Amino acid sequence: TPIISKRMPIPKAHYGGRHTVSLLPGAGIGPELMKYVKEVFVFAGVPVDFEDIDINPNADNDDDLDYAIASIRRNGVALKGNIETRSTEAEVKSRNVALRNELDLYVNVLHCVSYPGVTSRQKNIDIVIIRQNTEGEYAMLEHESVDGVVESMKIVTRPNSERIARYAFEYAKRNGRKKVTTVHKANIMKLSDGLFLEISRDVAKEYPDIQHNDMIIDNTCMQLVSNPHQFDVVLTTNLYGSIVSNVCCGLLGGAGLLSGKNYGDHYTVFEPGTRNTGGKIAGKNIANPVAMLNAAVDMLRHLGHKHHALIIQNAINKTINAGIHTRDLGGTATSREVIDSILKHIKIQSN
Ligand code: ATP
Repeated sequence: TPIISKRMPIPKAHYGGRHTVSLLPGAGIGPELMKYVKEVFVFAGVPVDFEDIDINPNADNDDDLDYAIASIRRNGVALKGNIETRSTEAEVKSRNVALRNELDLYVNVLHCVSYPGVTSRQKNIDIVIIRQNTEGEYAMLEHESVDGVVESMKIVTRPNSERIARYAFEYAKRNGRKKVTTVHKANIMKLSDGLFLEISRDVAKEYPDIQHNDMIIDNTCMQLVSNPHQFDVVLTTNLYGSIVSNVCCGLLGGAGLLSGKNYGDHYTVFEPGTRNTGGKIAGKNIANPVAMLNAAVDMLRHLGHKHHALIIQNAINKTINAGIHTRDLGGTATSREVIDSILKHIKIQSN
């Protein structure tokens, strides 16, 4: 009898050259951004169909989440907004974290590259953040041991540290990058971050052509703000990765621009780089639709639809460089106006 393991991939669904992908709009601005993605895809004739999955944030069971995970296992690929977990009760886990863990999406890649048309604090930035995405400070193992004393576990394992370090160096090698910087706090967390750092140093020895250094997280935040051009590829743990990602996005123009990729050995989930809900700006026609569209473009490249990816990417870049900016970028355009400009540039290229 064949052994069916959790890790064994389900064959991907293909129908006549089209791909089906799971679509998880999530909360806040997620649903409106997904509508724009669908509109752009239909307009550009993208051969992708969506399987829409709504997750009820108030449900007291995980049926919706289980269904979403089954769908991603079947389709192999998902586009995702931020899923809300309303309860702050310790036993109610973050569904975003649970989804990444269940699918073993151990890598998060955020390519922070400047848009020339956006006024930002720093120019010409090109940093790749490679973040351990399934353990570390996100272990969600907390308890109150005695009244008023809370313990929280940070889990660092050799296999996960090794495969994320290898991913970072392989990424650097494949993409002609020169340097990897391990970001940590091993001076204080000597065992956990110490292991992560030690393993990255060991893996670095296998890549003599790529320079390797390390930096404490505090100093990294300061250096990113004052001298970001020293960074090339940043390799780091889960929480530091989240902090560093937000600092970088802030330097380039905020939460509405960049996309992030979550990889495992079998499944890939695309989403906006800083994973925000944007609850306060939802439904107002002011959210920047670019980060989600960039995530959709990443997804098209991953699926091999390079031509469609390029057309949409060019249309986004032309729109941004023409100064059609939403409020987060200092502009006055509505979400709708940004999308209309993108559609116009798709049309120009397709004629
Ligand atoms: P919540 O509504 O869940 O309390 P929030 O809206 O206060 O969250 P986040 O969702 O964490 O905050 O977003 C952080 C900041 O980034 C907010 O100011 C939000 O408006 C902004 N932001 C996030 N995504 C976008 C976007 N696509 N366009 C414009 N601003 C965005």
